[in-house]
Amino acid sequence: MPAEHPLHVLNPATEEVIATVPAATAADVDAAVVRAARAQAKWAALSPADRARLLRRFATAVDEHLEELAQLEVREAGHTVGNARWEAGNVRDLLDYAAGGVERLTGRQIPVAGGLDVTILEPLGVVGVIAPWNFPMPIAAWGTAPALAAGNAVLLKPAETTPLTALRLAELALEAGLPEGLFQVLPGHGPVAGTALVEHPGVAKIVFTGSTAVGKQVLAKGSALLKRVTLELGGKSPNIVFADADIEAAAAAAPMSFLDNSGQDCCARTRILVQRSVYDRFLDLLTPAIEGVMVGDPADEKTDMGPLISKVQLERVRSYVTDDLAGIRGKAPEGPGFWFPPTVVTGVDPHARVAVEEVFGPVAVVLPFEDEAEAIGLANATDYGLSGSIWTRDVGRALRVSKAVRAGNLSVNSHSSVRYWTPFGGFKQSGIGRELGPDALTAFTETKNVFISDVSTTNVSTSTEGPAQ
Ligand code: NAD
Repeated sequence: MPAEHPLHVLNPATEEVIATVPAATAADVDAAVVRAARAQAKWAALSPADRARLLRRFATAVDEHLEELAQLEVREAGHTVGNARWEAGNVRDLLDYAAGGVERLTGRQIPVAGGLDVTILEPLGVVGVIAPWNFPMPIAAWGTAPALAAGNAVLLKPAETTPLTALRLAELALEAGLPEGLFQVLPGHGPVAGTALVEHPGVAKIVFTGSTAVGKQVLAKGSALLKRVTLELGGKSPNIVFADADIEAAAAAAPMSFLDNSGQDCCARTRILVQRSVYDRFLDLLTPAIEGVMVGDPADEKTDMGPLISKVQLERVRSYVTDDLAGIRGKAPEGPGFWFPPTVVTGVDPHARVAVEEVFGPVAVVLPFEDEAEAIGLANATDYGLSGSIWTRDVGRALRVSKAVRAGNLSVNSHSSVRYWTPFGGFKQSGIGRELGPDALTAFTETKNVFISDVSTTNVSTSTEGPAQ
């Protein structure tokens, strides 16, 4: 893809072009890094109270434009309007939460002989955030808000298909009074603008959210410069339903645990593991729930599920659901738009492609298991380790299985995964590092240790501990 090839933003529900955005080149990235470094020096020199105040103003600006941002997300990403409002609200809340951390980003005082030892948490400098298209606003903000709060500048590269909300957020940041150049958006092609950010020596850290394949390239290229890299990658998460669970509740909750955002969710519970003694009953309850999911115009308040993001994604999802597969099929609109119906595949081998690879569409498999050991074995039989759910009334079992499943975000009798005030990230091929939660700001700092000797002027010690040598 030539660098100058502009980005044509489509409404995935209609296939209409809603905007054409120039694509950033490597030279644009170079210039942005220079501006960002200048702005970062000024930003870090502000008092913590002033930085916090400006971030709160940015949060207020997002809140005041919440409906506009949400409608933009509906048009460019096909998200249901309810989800899109939540997403814009999530950006506001992340900024507020991060702002609350600015004055609390404290180092430590560590006991030593012969002086005082303190740690200082210094900003990294310029941080690159590379975001995917599936949750354009929240995921951009997961990296941006804590990075800014910790005193860094941010260069955000949104996905090719969804640059519009990111561009609007950058305008709101300026209107809120953030220094020019501190938060810049570089819409562009991954291999061009994304690579330029990853390979730029002036970018201290990359926060990458996207596919495992590209994440590995980012890590490899970043490592040449010993760049700090956080990776939030793919998932194939289990939803384990034990016979002692509230089966009605588990079956009622299962559809949206993998259909939300049309299944384009890294935490989607797409492997439903059901204890054999309740397998048939579970499927009986699941079938009407899947068939009842309203798929259609994402701007309609009654819609549960919108289209997929693109034709490429639609073809990819189709490739997993071959005609020979049995299961449950919901309904989806015909005609323009990238529509795929809610789909549950049954009777497949646990090693089948659809059962182990991330489909990233509204498709789940249901697999039976005999006992706890087999459930844990199946849950862990994937390269990924992002999320998972455990449905049981037995507290001991909930604890045992939570300890045994190798994933970063588990929920019991619920499908919740992501809260901005709790840590989030993946085991195994689902990523490296953690975002969000109480330590989010620290991840955007370097720890500097400073020892200040209490020996006066003439007898200065050079030792680490004890008497002068
Ligand atoms: P993707 O890897 O294709 O693209 C992600 C971003 O990387 C985009 O901005 C893209 O332009 C950029 N990019 C592409 N090639 C690049 C390169 N060579 N160098 C630098 N940047 C490059 O992923 P996607 O299709 O946009 O998103 C879907 C994937 O994201 C899924 O696998 C999903 O599971 C994952 N995801 C993970 C999380 C998480 O938190 N773990 C959250 C959301 C999505």
